[in-house]
Amino acid sequence: MSLAVDPRAVESLLAFWADAGVDATYAEAPIDRLAEGAALLRAKSQPAAVVAAARPTLVSNASPDVSAAIAQARASAAACQDLEALAAAIAAFDGCPLKTQGARQAVVSRGPGDAPLMIIGEGPGADEDAQGQPFVGRAGQLLDRMLKAAGLTDRAFITNTVFWRPPGNRTPTPQEQAVCAPFLERAIALVNPKMLLLIGGASAKAMLKRDEGILSLRGRWFEWTSSDGARELPALPTLHPAFLLRQPAAKKKAWQDLLILTERLDRPERPH
Ligand code: URA
Repeated sequence: MSLAVDPRAVESLLAFWADAGVDATYAEAPIDRLAEGAALLRAKSQPAAVVAAARPTLVSNASPDVSAAIAQARASAAACQDLEALAAAIAAFDGCPLKTQGARQAVVSRGPGDAPLMIIGEGPGADEDAQGQPFVGRAGQLLDRMLKAAGLTDRAFITNTVFWRPPGNRTPTPQEQAVCAPFLERAIALVNPKMLLLIGGASAKAMLKRDEGILSLRGRWFEWTSSDGARELPALPTLHPAFLLRQPAAKKKAWQDLLILTERLDRPERPH
């Protein structure tokens, strides 16, 4: 029996996916569903504590490729003495696989280079990829409105955990974030902000090396520590504006987070 496929139905399905940001049909690596199933069966037969201990929170056992890319990113980032050089070094960097998975250009940052606040999102989407700046699509416009209402316009340097758009707007993997992290850390060192606002679960988890979901992390202060342990900054996770567009009732929580943030940002520093 052959199935008749209506080409108009296929076209309309593809158009729907494209509108939703799904413009690629592949993941960054093949997925072995059989192995996943076997791991699930094994996990079910193990006590919870053993399963939790085995869950990777970080890029543990990074493959040689990932380790080499991280080392290369570190060396390249360390040589950058200003944000302009850093943006050029990121654009020239070939170690992040996202660069060759359909991204048009590197998306690095926007906002003043001496801002007291650094906002770190997950990764560029379609609009950011087209325009070369972070948070310029619908989610970014909502973020801008929130920053304006909180008196934070022009006081925030905005960037992401990865600098190329993940295909189909998927969440960046911990490996992709780890490869971009040396550049992000260098940006933090060059901007030297007083605090970080971590937007969305993928940003909060990567920056704080924690496993909890964003609904549990948001609105609580954490200490971000640089990979060499030399620098610490207060970091506040909050909800992603893309989530707020889908769940407007959650805007209240995000607003509370911004108030917590501005209270600390504007608190006079105590003399030593
Ligand atoms: N979402 C992000 O996390 N970052 C952007 O730059 C845009 C959307």
